[in-house]
Amino acid sequence: MQISQSRKEYDVCIVGSGAGGGMAAKVLTEGGANVLMLEAGPNWDVNKDGKMLAWPYDSPRRGAGTTRPFGEFDAALGGWEIEGEPYTKVPGSDFQWFRSRMLGGRTNHWGRISLRFGPLDFRRRSIDGLGDDWPITYDEIKPYYDKVDRLVGIFGSKEGIYNEPDGEFLPPPKPRCYELFVKKGCDKLGIPVIPSRLSILTKPHNGRAACHYCSQCNRGCSTHSNFSSPSVLLPPALKTGRLEIITDAMAREVTVDQEGQATGVSYVDTNTLQEHHVKAKIVVLAAGACETARLLLNSKSSRHPNGLANSSDVAGKYLMDSTGTNVSGFFPQMMNNVPHNEDGTGGMHMYMPWWLNDKKLDFPRGYHIEFGGGRRMPSFGFMGGIHNYNNPNPSHNTSGTYDSEKKIDPANMVGGGYGKQLKDDYRRFYGSTIGFSGRGEAIAFKTNYCEIDPNTVDKFGIPVLRFHYKWSEYEYNQVKHMQETFREIIDTLGGVALSPMPTKEQGYGIAAPGLIIHELGVTRMGNDPKSSVVNKHCQAHEVKNLFITDGGSFVSQADKNPTWTILALSMRASEYIIDQKKKQNI
Ligand SMILES: Cc1cc2nc3c(=O)[nH]c(=O)nc-3n(C[C@H](O)[C@H](O)[C@H](O)COP(=O)(O)OP(=O)(O)OC[C@H]3O[C@@H](n4cnc5c(N)ncnc54)[C@H](O)[C@@H]3O)c2cc1C
Ligand code: SF4
Repeated sequence: MQISQSRKEYDVCIVGSGAGGGMAAKVLTEGGANVLMLEAGPNWDVNKDGKMLAWPYDSPRRGAGTTRPFGEFDAALGGWEIEGEPYTKVPGSDFQWFRSRMLGGRTNHWGRISLRFGPLDFRRRSIDGLGDDWPITYDEIKPYYDKVDRLVGIFGSKEGIYNEPDGEFLPPPKPRCYELFVKKGCDKLGIPVIPSRLSILTKPHNGRAACHYCSQCNRGCSTHSNFSSPSVLLPPALKTGRLEIITDAMAREVTVDQEGQATGVSYVDTNTLQEHHVKAKIVVLAAGACETARLLLNSKSSRHPNGLANSSDVAGKYLMDSTGTNVSGFFPQMMNNVPHNEDGTGGMHMYMPWWLNDKKLDFPRGYHIEFGGGRRMPSFGFMGGIHNYNNPNPSHNTSGTYDSEKKIDPANMVGGGYGKQLKDDYRRFYGSTIGFSGRGEAIAFKTNYCEIDPNTVDKFGIPVLRFHYKWSEYEYNQVKHMQETFREIIDTLGGVALSPMPTKEQGYGIAAPGLIIHELGVTRMGNDPKSSVVNKHCQAHEVKNLFITDGGSFVSQADKNPTWTILALSMRASEYIIDQKKKQNI
């Protein structure tokens, strides 16, 4: 294959333009570096391509997810399956790998739940003996969380909960009606319900407009009022005049010199299939944790026969995704609800942080609860199928100790049909369900990993990943606890669960690994080069001019959604690069 070689040598080549890559581009260009960013997907401009203000009836599909996993108006270009870009799994194991191929990656349509890890989350091994502690503490990363808060903007409330550290918050939006309803029930059960922490602007911030409460964040925000890399990080980087971006550029390999240090990146132009090489003094990988591991494993050379920076054989290992499961409840007292204003951000205004840190349970670590309901804009599939509202079976509750059937007048429980009856039923039931989802911490095991599949290449000829992943008893027990808790909340609120309690054989309803889209680990950080890929500055132990700024460096995942930590770590690593460069250490 003919490879086109660029003459220019950049200070830094960044692979990936999402959370980790966008932050690196901003900090490095503002620090004076000339940066080239390679992005596998096409350009995507929220003002031109976003569907923030489209109505469901603007489409013959009414917004159905026939073209995209989260509905046709969702901003994601990509999904769990991408044509021509397969991945494989060994029999008996599962991992669903979500990829957004577009400028800004998954930050265009993520949930904006922006939680810090707490002090306990960095030293869990010291507490329960499982996994490993991080080589950094909360105190070391706190100044970066603070800076990310100030730069990006995040709403929340000061709660003083030790392991849910407060940030520098904008005021939270008002709770919605159903959120206050849930809080009432949870107060009785001792489950805290607090304002959520989302990177959405409730006030104008750093030149960006405040949210106008259209509730459509996953479609991309044309007023740039929520966080995405192209809204918040790439514009200031481009403004320096020191950032060049090449889209449709699928990185294939990091090249090295005779000493094994990085010299640049070779990539495939996804339109022409022509292979190119760019030279750079420093390479920053931020392609998403597994994609970065794939790059390392595909970058073999005489100095790095086991893959780049991988003599420890840890690249690809300790893959993590959050645990998750859902239960929806039906609440008769919310039927025939008075129409009321539920405008707000495109996310929940309240959530439940983990509240049982000091309790001995049959699983380690914990989970937080996200919940949603109310009377938002209906579109295809809303309310999850009206036939499900017909006579919910009281045996849906956990153990028979609940007697929810007594609270429901069966005459009210006939949904579905055609014509006027169907419309009346929708009006009657609209807003009377609330869904609860858990997001829990799974333990990082070396046996959960990705590796190169020797038998399969993608449409660019690049060897693909093969996944090995199994949940352990810890995760199953944790999810069982989620299911029981959600059902207890529903029962306390006088509702009924719309699905039966999943059995042990059904894994208590645990989502397949990867479905929660918090892929982390696989290039973990540590002090010991024998058991980690990067050091505490996200710098490869074996390749001093190679850095990893996506979620690959995570040692454990906490029950928190990871992106705020990815942003803080990327900022910290990028400042370190500038500092080391000045000191001529790299
Ligand atoms: C629907 C959804 C909801 C989510 N909600 C939340 C949430 O509420 N809170 C939270 O914390 N997290 C959430 N996440 C996860 C969050 O999006 C990710 O943690 C975050 O975007 C990871 O940042 P990243 O930079 O590692 O990867 P990404 O943002 O995915 O960026 C990686 C980029 O690299 C590019 N790339 C990949 N391979 C190559 C290659 N070989 N060459 C060149 N470019 C490449 C990709 O195209 C992509 O643009 C959600 C994700 C999804 C999909
Ligand atoms: S809810 Fe707010 S932040 Fe989200 S898309 Fe609408 S205006 Fe933008």
